[in-house]
Amino acid sequence: MTQPTNTQRRQALALAGAGLVGAPAMLAQAADAPTPSGTPPGGASSSTRPPMQDPREQYPKPPFPAQRQEPPGLTARMKPRPDHGESSYVGSGRLKGRRAFITGGDSGIGRAAAIAYAREGADVAIGYLPAEEEDAREVIALIRAEGRRAVALPGDIRTESVCKQLIEDAVKGLGGLDILVNNAAKQQARKSIAEIDSEQFDATFKTNIYAPFWLTKAALKHLKPGSVVINTVSVVAYDPPQDLLDYASTKGALVIFTKALAKQLAERGIRVNAVAPGPIWTPLQPSGGQLPDKLPKFGQDAPLGRPGQPAELAAAFVLLASQEGSYMVGSVLGVTGGRPGP
Ligand code: NAD
Ligand code: MG
Repeated sequence: MTQPTNTQRRQALALAGAGLVGAPAMLAQAADAPTPSGTPPGGASSSTRPPMQDPREQYPKPPFPAQRQEPPGLTARMKPRPDHGESSYVGSGRLKGRRAFITGGDSGIGRAAAIAYAREGADVAIGYLPAEEEDAREVIALIRAEGRRAVALPGDIRTESVCKQLIEDAVKGLGGLDILVNNAAKQQARKSIAEIDSEQFDATFKTNIYAPFWLTKAALKHLKPGSVVINTVSVVAYDPPQDLLDYASTKGALVIFTKALAKQLAERGIRVNAVAPGPIWTPLQPSGGQLPDKLPKFGQDAPLGRPGQPAELAAAFVLLASQEGSYMVGSVLGVTGGRPGP
């Protein structure tokens, strides 16, 4: 693939910069960032590492403006916009030449992982719903700005045939597969079990637990020793909120799926692990993931007093994917702001 021009890099950065939130220190850095020039993948020229700072003050805190979107939700409509590490993630070649497929890679945590993987030298395919094309385009531009191959894979993962096709398309587009990140999910808060209809229950289980099962099964024949599967679980698997009954049940199932599969695949040299985020500021939350009256206070009950930003998850996804994590098998890495988790 041809290296991007400086203009392409700048365009992608401008797009990305629109997503920057955070402390004045970070904004100042973004403005001061050196003009990107044709450096190798790794993003060092286009990003500045965040300085040491108080994590309580690093990002926006509640109260947040009341807001509501239809699911699956779009990044541009969030107030404030999340930070996915566009201006801060600095790579160092830890995933050089790897090929990764991230479901739900258009926004939120999946977007942060996609940016970090590309800056670490990986080619990246992202899965998403067709309604999220706008978000997906921004991520594709960011991956290409690093000189990496980017593959856009729209598709609804609630059926096995689509999951199989997505894996085949990812393998074709990337030339193989070394990293599968099962990150897509559905979350709709309901006050009571009586308000969860079978349609929602089924769609939540299809998206959050059947799809990782189908995708992983289809991916297996392509994964060689050294490859990894990473599942995004949640602190709700350990401390389930009463209004996320169906969603929390799927995350509990995915923790056990991760641990059992890790034992199976270790014998083939394939590592399976999970990341358990705490409350993170992503489109999932204003598009029904939280009850509307709870959203302004989102993240307040975390000991850090604020929600996490997707950018704060990137390091965990990189560690589990990289060879530095070679002895991590069946682990659930908590990134929770202090909320009880694994
Ligand atoms: P997000 O909305 O940005 O990402 C979720 C993605 O799932 C969407 O972008 C969408 O592309 C995908 N998706 C949903 N239904 C789909 C379907 N039927 N077919 C294909 N793709 C589908 O939100 P996020 O918070 O970044 O979520 C990423 C992961 O993090 C999820 O597994 C979520 O459960 C988990 N998580 C989030 C939080 C949080 O507070 N945001 C906390 C713990 C765990
Ligand atoms: Mg999305």
